[in-house]
Amino acid sequence: MSYSKKIDDGEKVRLKDLDPGYTAGLSKAEAEAETAELLKELADLDNLLYASAKNSLLIVLQGLDTSGKDGTIRHLAKGINLLSCRVVPFKAPTAREMAQDFLWRIHQHTPPKGNVALFNRSHYEDVLVVRVHDLVPKEEWSRRYDHINNFESLLADSGTIILKFFLHISKKEQKKRLIERETEPDKGWKLEAADWKERQFWDDYTEAFEDAFRRCSSKRAPWFVIPADNKWFRDLAVTERIVKTLRDHRKDWEKALEDRGVKAHREIAEYRAAHPDDS
Ligand code: AMP
Ligand code: MG
Repeated sequence: MSYSKKIDDGEKVRLKDLDPGYTAGLSKAEAEAETAELLKELADLDNLLYASAKNSLLIVLQGLDTSGKDGTIRHLAKGINLLSCRVVPFKAPTAREMAQDFLWRIHQHTPPKGNVALFNRSHYEDVLVVRVHDLVPKEEWSRRYDHINNFESLLADSGTIILKFFLHISKKEQKKRLIERETEPDKGWKLEAADWKERQFWDDYTEAFEDAFRRCSSKRAPWFVIPADNKWFRDLAVTERIVKTLRDHRKDWEKALEDRGVKAHREIAEYRAAHPDDS
């Protein structure tokens, strides 16, 4: 059983059929207890990922304004070692970035082996906001799905584990969160009139997301729809998917560590044998 919807290769998903308020019948306390256990396992698996340095982990977070991308990153930071993790936010491209292909600015931030990258928005903006607002002609953005698939295949071929999360909130919950930002003094810094304007394009974004899921979900770079109206359930659902995915690598990573240890011991023994007088 899983707490989020995995999208299979070519699968057509209707977001309106997936409940943003889904909680699998769990109470907040139950979900938090399970999340705490999963976070411990995540920390352990992340250590192995780092020490074995065979794979890297790329987590892509997408979702409409207020869907909880920042909050999810703050949550994951509790289970991931900051020494080997980078958070990368993608804003509107600069003039320099716009003078290159759309993946140029992305590729330089993909994680090296042993490392984790958390993308707050991503190359998917180039088939989302760009499509919704006609920022480039259709013939240009429509070719990007294939480029994205090829790019993600390249990353996977070089050992990158890719997980893409869509934080699914309801229109009602978004309104609540936007108003909260206006009424709570410590949330004022997040206020943007643009968020209310973007809300008018809700249906266009939904369509753009649904197309991206159908065209760019694959076995090695799957999309997951995360029920995100409840922050505590969102955190559980995201953590669960990451831990379940990394678990499959545990044996492989432990073996790599063992091999490294054996090799280091052998090298030290050889050194000692060759330098018997070294105190
Ligand atoms: P925020 O996530 O609130 O910091 O906002 C970042 C903004 O950058 C959002 O409005 C995104 O739509 C915008 N953005 C990110 N990537 C792109 C892109 N490739 N083209 C245009 N706008 C983008
Ligand atoms: Mg914003």
